[in-house]
Amino acid sequence: MKLLPNSWKKAAAAAAAVMLLSSSAFVLSGCAPGQAKSAASSSVSAAAADSQMKPGVAYVKRDPSVPYSVPEGVSVLMYHMIGDIQNNAAVMTEANLRLQMNYLRDHGYHPITMQELYDYITKGAPLPEKPVCITFDDGYLDSYTIVYPLMKEYGFPWTLFLITDDVGKPYNRMTWDQLKEMADSHTVTIANHTLSHPKLHNLATAKEKEKEIVEANEALKYHLGIDNAWLAYPYGDYDDQVVEICKKAGIKMAVTTDSGRVHVGSYPYELKRVYVGNDISLARFSERLNKDNYTPV
Ligand SMILES: [Zn+2]
Repeated sequence: MKLLPNSWKKAAAAAAAVMLLSSSAFVLSGCAPGQAKSAASSSVSAAAADSQMKPGVAYVKRDPSVPYSVPEGVSVLMYHMIGDIQNNAAVMTEANLRLQMNYLRDHGYHPITMQELYDYITKGAPLPEKPVCITFDDGYLDSYTIVYPLMKEYGFPWTLFLITDDVGKPYNRMTWDQLKEMADSHTVTIANHTLSHPKLHNLATAKEKEKEIVEANEALKYHLGIDNAWLAYPYGDYDDQVVEICKKAGIKMAVTTDSGRVHVGSYPYELKRVYVGNDISLARFSERLNKDNYTPV
């Protein structure tokens, strides 16, 4: 599925027009009156006691003064492993990740949740100014030891796409207990990156493709209580059959590894992302937040 059906485009454009006229329909949960404001203009899970919060879903409270509008596009940042591995640009150092998160904070960017991204592309819902979406793939141990506390510190919601069969493996992987702690923190959205990370279109039968997607969703439900609707295709690889299986499995939105931003009306099952590696300077990073055709690595 490489082409966007026209009917989808029209429906999304119409919905966007309606949302623009009635932006008050978007409910923003602001800080309670008198509540102390932190230096950052947002925080995740400030109301963790709220029993309405679902596990494995990031909730974000923003300062009520943050302006909302419908942006021209949103970068969905794609990270993987964080650590000190030499000569592998896909692995980012913690120091570099911190520099980039400092950049987002100091320049007024507002990381958004998967649900906010979905409402934006499908309904043209307004987003906080300078929106950006932060995603990490695979489920390495450093997502728990480094990324989880770091994002809490910055008050940034983020998304982890998890390979469910890798959980508990001895080398550099998380345990379900660690994931449970993260899921119940309401600071991170935990989503589907399949059971075993195959190139989905290479699998011989629809049954095998279905197993990878459906059983990963079942694992998220069984271990973490998550009703998951988001997926990242391993290697960005998919085909029409995979998209149909996603739809049947309750997946509402899926991201690829194709480069570029997403927009109102983007087809929800082939969303582009923005690669960020250790070799991306801050100047390049800032360009990637704002342009569809940014400078290649
Ligand atoms: Zn992956």
